Amino acid sequence: MSQTARSKEVFDFFRKKYDTPYSIADLTATVCELCGVTPPEECAGTPIAAVVDQGDKLMGGIGKTQKVLLFCADAMGEAQRQVFKDAFARIEKTASFRFLSTSVMPSVTPVCYGTIFSGAAPCVHGIEKYEKVLLSVDTLFDAFARAGKNVAICAYNNCSIDVIFRKRNVDYYSFRGDEGTFRCAMDLMERSDYDLIVCYMNDYDHTMHATGPFSEEAGAQAELAADRYEAFAKQADLFWAQYNRAVVFVPDHGGHLVNESNGAHGTDTPEDMLVNHFYRIKPGGKK
Ligand SMILES: [Zn+2]
Repeated sequence: MSQTARSKEVFDFFRKKYDTPYSIADLTATVCELCGVTPPEECAGTPIAAVVDQGDKLMGGIGKTQKVLLFCADAMGEAQRQVFKDAFARIEKTASFRFLSTSVMPSVTPVCYGTIFSGAAPCVHGIEKYEKVLLSVDTLFDAFARAGKNVAICAYNNCSIDVIFRKRNVDYYSFRGDEGTFRCAMDLMERSDYDLIVCYMNDYDHTMHATGPFSEEAGAQAELAADRYEAFAKQADLFWAQYNRAVVFVPDHGGHLVNESNGAHGTDTPEDMLVNHFYRIKPGGKK
């Protein structure tokens, strides 16, 4: 069996189990299709037709998206959407497209973002447990670099995203906290010529482990994630106005309540395995 077929088998298994047509692996396939970039070698995700069609309609053809911001809010899954209704309603209103997607197992950060940004299943991309090691397979970032595009990854020091995608033709910006990461991504949108910017958000995940997924403190982080997604959309409309652009909300997994004051993820349950990816697609030339 080919590597791509092995990945597809994994994605199909979870899509069927959780009764939704989408996988987190569709992100890389969709972004490549939007931007006219050849996908990474082992990419087995499927471009989301509704997003590609919207790009085609608004931009007068497929593959014409020029600027992309990917906001990776860790552990902000469907279980979180069910509880933090106002925050997620704001995200959905900003984006306009929402796709309920299945994660992969184990539903932990390096395994899931490994799949999201390679389009390959864990058994193919090689990170099959919670370990922050260099991902060796071809990724979205390699594909963009090969196409001559500039890529920036802004993340928390030594978090999964900061570590597993190193040694690529990418600029890395690493911070001690989410606020620095967020400010950096906003500044890069304003002052640089990056075509693809990743901004990672750590603190919902961190808080949910420490206080439970639905605590007041966790809720404040969910609100902050919505604030930041709205801010990225505004920043794109302001500084990327002349470009065809996409601002995407890209969580990795959800999370569940363990006891009164602790949360976790990593299991094959709806709470951990279901997330929503939100896409905001805008044509250039309109202020
Ligand atoms: Zn995570």
